[in-house]
Amino acid sequence: MGVRARIVVYAPSKPAAETACRAAFSRIAQLEDAMSDYRPTSELMRLCAKAGGSPVKVSKDLLRVLLKSQELSRRSNGAFDVTVGPLVKLWRQARKDVKLPERADLDRALKLVGWRKLHPDPKHSTARLDSHGMLLDLGGIAKGYACDEAIRTLKSRGIESALAEMGGDIAVSSAPPGRNGWQIEVPNAPEGQRRQTLANRAVSTSGDIEQFVEIGGKRYSHIVDPRTGLGLTSRLAVTVIARDCTTSDGLSTAVSVLGPEKGRELIGTYHGASMCWTRLN
Ligand code: ADP
Ligand code: MG
Repeated sequence: MGVRARIVVYAPSKPAAETACRAAFSRIAQLEDAMSDYRPTSELMRLCAKAGGSPVKVSKDLLRVLLKSQELSRRSNGAFDVTVGPLVKLWRQARKDVKLPERADLDRALKLVGWRKLHPDPKHSTARLDSHGMLLDLGGIAKGYACDEAIRTLKSRGIESALAEMGGDIAVSSAPPGRNGWQIEVPNAPEGQRRQTLANRAVSTSGDIEQFVEIGGKRYSHIVDPRTGLGLTSRLAVTVIARDCTTSDGLSTAVSVLGPEKGRELIGTYHGASMCWTRLN
């Protein structure tokens, strides 16, 4: 997934910690294998290769992430949309070339984008994509899911107090022994509230300041607006706290697209979620 993964645990012994962490890291590696859009052999890319055809059997993990993505799409009015793959591809090239994508290419890509064209089916454990050429991109949600699963793997091995971090996504379980929670740095929080004590929560930040391309004095983000096909230029940095990291990761991307006002409305519909943001210059 292109980032380092970090795990911190409280365990009864060093060997117990190491065994559990090994299991959690291999769980993360397994998820990367399934959901990477860089590996043509990943489960995700094999599903995309069948776009326009009949339903494809998918793993429990991929099904869960696709269902959660669809929920986020519905509730964000399509601001969050994992079918943005064809657009993301154009913007990746734009970053390399430092040249805006051609309007005609964007229009062609836009025809392949839309969360209603993706059909995960929990009853049959399948997924189907409507049109040939569609491409899924789980970059806005997979790291959060991987953090959640790392925490879950640790729990199943008796580790109740842990932290899992991947890039801008952090999940924590119960507080360290004798403390109220984990001291977590919350980017974009108001001065004086940057350090928060959290337990059984997740924190995700979007609006990565490194991933943009500047063309004609405008900065285009790696997050795209599925409605226009354009990289965001609003220069919003968003941090979301939620009860799990799949949710906080997806929501931080959604709020980046929606902007602070509509974003706050969306966050308000998620129990235990909150957000903070700053505008970068
Ligand atoms: P980061 O990858 O920097 O942690 P995000 O969690 O916000 O930041 O995810 C951004 C990634 O999500 C992009 O690199 C791309 O892969 C994907 N993406 C871009 N636009 C959207 C969108 N509108 N909805 C869902 N995913 C998106
Ligand atoms: Mg995100």
